[in-house]
Amino acid sequence: MSHLMNTYARLPVAFTHGEGVWLFDETGKRYLDALSGIAVSTLGHNHPRLVRSIAEQAGSVLHTSNLYRIPRQEELGDRIAALSGMDEVFFCNSGCEANEAAIKLARFYGHKQHIEHPEIIVMENAFHGRTLATLSATGNRKTQAGFEPLVTGFVRVPYKDIGAIRAVGEHHHNVVAVMLEMVQGEGGINIADDAFQRELRALCDERGWLLICDEVQCGIGRTGHWFGFQQSGIKPDVMTLAKGLGSGVPIGACVTSGRAAGLFGPGNHGSTFGGNPLACAAGLTTLAEIEEKGLMESAVRVGDAIRNGMREALAGVNGVVDIRGRGLMVGIELDRPCGDLVRQALDAGLLINVTAERVIRLLPALVFTEQDAQTLVSQLAPLVRKFLSQ
Ligand SMILES: *Cc1c(COP(=O)(O)O)cnc(C)c1O
Repeated sequence: MSHLMNTYARLPVAFTHGEGVWLFDETGKRYLDALSGIAVSTLGHNHPRLVRSIAEQAGSVLHTSNLYRIPRQEELGDRIAALSGMDEVFFCNSGCEANEAAIKLARFYGHKQHIEHPEIIVMENAFHGRTLATLSATGNRKTQAGFEPLVTGFVRVPYKDIGAIRAVGEHHHNVVAVMLEMVQGEGGINIADDAFQRELRALCDERGWLLICDEVQCGIGRTGHWFGFQQSGIKPDVMTLAKGLGSGVPIGACVTSGRAAGLFGPGNHGSTFGGNPLACAAGLTTLAEIEEKGLMESAVRVGDAIRNGMREALAGVNGVVDIRGRGLMVGIELDRPCGDLVRQALDAGLLINVTAERVIRLLPALVFTEQDAQTLVSQLAPLVRKFLSQ
C-alpha cells in the first residue's frame, strides 16, 4: 500500500524523462504532452537554457531568505512590472498563495477605509486554489464540501454578468474588490470578452473596488498576451501569477498597481521560500525565452491551428457542443461527461485533461509548433469520434 495521501486519482504511468513536448515512461513509450503539467511547463521539458540557468543558480546560491536583499528577485520584479505596467510584486510559491496574498490585500485595503467586514465579489465556476480562503473563493461545491465553515466575505455572481456585479454593489456596502480569471481554466475554458473586461474595469473605478485578476493559469503568454487582461487593454489593481512563471520550478506572485500598491508594510505578509534565487532564475529565463522566441505570437497561431484542426476533423460529429479558447488554452466541450477520454488518450500516447466534466482541456507548452498541433489533432480527433459513437 502506498504511503501517499490519497488526494489524486493518479493515472498508472510514471515518466522518467522529457524532451520538448514529449514525455517518456519507464517502458520507453513516448507521449505527446498537450497539458504541460497543467499549464506549468511553459518551455516544455528539458529546455537547455532553462536547465543551464537553474544549474548555474544552484551552483552559486539556492536560498538565502527574505531577511536579505535578493537581486534575482528584484530583477524578476522589475520584469513583471515592466511587462504588466504594474508597480509592486510579492513572491510566493504557488497559485493559492498568490491568491491568499491578494485576498489579504483586498481586506487590508477595506480596513484602511474603516470597512470592518470587507467583501469580495467572486464568480461561479471560478477556481482560485485549495487553501481555506481560496477554496471559499472558488465557485465549485466539490472543492468546498466537507471543509466548512468556509471563510466568509465572498459574494458570488454568474461569470461575466456585469449586471449582477452592479446589483451586488447596490445591496452590499462592504464590497472592496472583484476577483476573477479572464479565462476560467478549471471551470471549462470560459472567456471574459473584451467588452465585459472594460465594463468591469469602469465599474471598479466608479465604486473604488480593486479589480483582482487571477492570471495563474491564463497568464505568462498563454493567451497570446503576457496576461489575459491585456486582450482588452485594461489593467487590474492586483494580479496573481504562478503555474507557467517558472516553467516547472515552483513560484507564485501577487502583483499590485495604483491604489493597491504600497499597502503592505513589514510584518503584514511574508513567505520563507517565496522568490528564492533558484525560482527567480527560472522565472527570468522563462520570460526571456517567451520574448526572444516570439512564443506569444506562436501561441496564437498554434492555438488556432489546434482549434481549426479539431473543428475540421470533428465537423458534423454529433455530441461536440463547442470548440473554443484563446491561444494555447483550448476547450472542446462535449454533450456528456468524458473523463474516460483521458485514459484512452494516455493509452494512445497523448496527455490531455478533462475539466468541468464535459470539457476536454488542452494546455500545451508554449514551444508547441504547428507540426505538433497537427500531430495532436490526428491523435485526438479519432479518439473523440470513437468516444462519441459508443
Ligand atoms: C491552478 C490554479 C490556482 C491554484 O494554484 P496552485 O499552485 O495549485 O495553488 C489558482 N488559480 C487558478 C486560476 C489556477 O488555475
